Amino acid sequence: MNTRWISTVSEMISFTAEARSRAKSLALVPTMGALHEGHLSLVRQAQMQCDVVVVSIFVNPTQFGPSEDFARYPRNLEKDLELLRFLKVHAVFAPSSEEMYPTGFSTFVDPGPIATVFEGALRPGHFRGVATVVLKLFNIVRPDIALFGQKDFQQVVVIRRLIQDLNLPVRIGVCPIVREEDGLAKSSRNLYLSAEDRKAALLLSRSLKRAEEMAQAGEGDAQKVLEEMRKTFDAEPRVRLDYAAIVDPATLQPVARALPGSVALVAAGLGSVRLIDNLIFGPPRSTPELKLQLALTAQAADKESSATSRPDIDRLRLSIENCRDCAAVSSISLPPREFLAKYLKRDYPDLHSTQVLVIGGCAPIDPSGLPYYRPEAPNPFSTRLYDLLGVRDFGEFKARFALTDAARCHAVGNRVDERTLDYCTKHLREELKLFPNLQSIVILGEYAYLQFQKHILGRERVSIKPFGELLRSEGWAQETVRLPSHGERAMRIFYCYHPTYESRKSPPLAPYLT
Ligand code: AMP
Repeated sequence: MNTRWISTVSEMISFTAEARSRAKSLALVPTMGALHEGHLSLVRQAQMQCDVVVVSIFVNPTQFGPSEDFARYPRNLEKDLELLRFLKVHAVFAPSSEEMYPTGFSTFVDPGPIATVFEGALRPGHFRGVATVVLKLFNIVRPDIALFGQKDFQQVVVIRRLIQDLNLPVRIGVCPIVREEDGLAKSSRNLYLSAEDRKAALLLSRSLKRAEEMAQAGEGDAQKVLEEMRKTFDAEPRVRLDYAAIVDPATLQPVARALPGSVALVAAGLGSVRLIDNLIFGPPRSTPELKLQLALTAQAADKESSATSRPDIDRLRLSIENCRDCAAVSSISLPPREFLAKYLKRDYPDLHSTQVLVIGGCAPIDPSGLPYYRPEAPNPFSTRLYDLLGVRDFGEFKARFALTDAARCHAVGNRVDERTLDYCTKHLREELKLFPNLQSIVILGEYAYLQFQKHILGRERVSIKPFGELLRSEGWAQETVRLPSHGERAMRIFYCYHPTYESRKSPPLAPYLT
């Protein structure tokens, strides 16, 4: 596959149109070039999530102030292209300034108060330029997903607002910060640090590390943590600290306590180079992805969407795709929307005939894990699922069962936190309505169990029996419930071990599923 080098807006638009006509999903990775491993992590994430990946390289003049480093920002198109070719990126969009801002250009996006603090305060107009160019790129490339780095945390917050406020049909994925071995966050600007400044620059990540240690040792007072962070810089006059702050991840307002999901931001100047870095607080040993999830799902969930009288697959698929509750996460699991978009239409001509819905625990990020993906060649999950349900093959399966998932927009590996399950329940509720004649629901695994008990049945966490205890004697359990979505008629719910995520196996349910 050849990487297409595109420099005009019109060519980019036709590339996207062509990809779309082949029903391909498309991801955009916006960059300013001088690529390093941080950028490449976004590219790899994009490749995991979409069929077609476009990387844009554009040093955007409108986000640089008059006294900033636009002219000497590192540019190395040849090397960038080589790297992107090696990664088999489909297209690189590298327009000129004139192409993006032709004579007469005069419309800008004003991102509001969130863009006037921290970087916005020190670089007036910076986020106006960022929001404008990102909106232009979204309109030109029309991606399903755009990938950004946690490294520019405030930028992520601004872009999320932009997407939400202007109802843009794109989701964003955020990738953790990639660092040098000694902890310095990778940045195109690191190239310009003198040897002495390079050493001193370590204070940024060191101050954040210190903050993390304090929080994990139980010190939640943000002022005390900040004092320690600032002290880190005291002994090094080469570093001019611009700010150190601990903020709420959604509003960027300073917080009194550093809680899981709160973010510590630092920015400093060394000679003529400015560097930024940040840290998301999280429980001990939590992965960077989980911390991102904590920070980016910190907003209150939307109000429950109003009930639909006539369930509609496309509308529901769109609402899942455009869900903003947890849109900005580092991994987005596609199977539920694939299920709705493709398989439900392909395999279920009459949704009234489906009597049993199976709710899986956590969709694999790779859709090939679904039984729908290649029905003729069952994978380990589908084989075990068929054993559990007492069917021989996909034909028998789809005649009676449909499979969906507890987590829709995202999940980290096979770990799903309760907030994710809560957010995703609103889609599950709508999905349940697609099958008006359901008689039974089979719940696979602990996460789906927890979600169903708490958010569908509305039970208090304390009254929900631990999953292991519930299944201990028989290896499965059942109860009869009445769901308002199904006219309050009695419906049987079966709880089982997840066929692949849990080591224990439930006995076949076939005798009970008649
Ligand atoms: P830039 O080229 O600096 O505009 O960066 C392009 C994208 O790469 C932005 O979304 C950045 O947040 C992201 N990025 C830059 N440095 C890193 C890093 N060290 N780790 C992860 N992402 C990064």
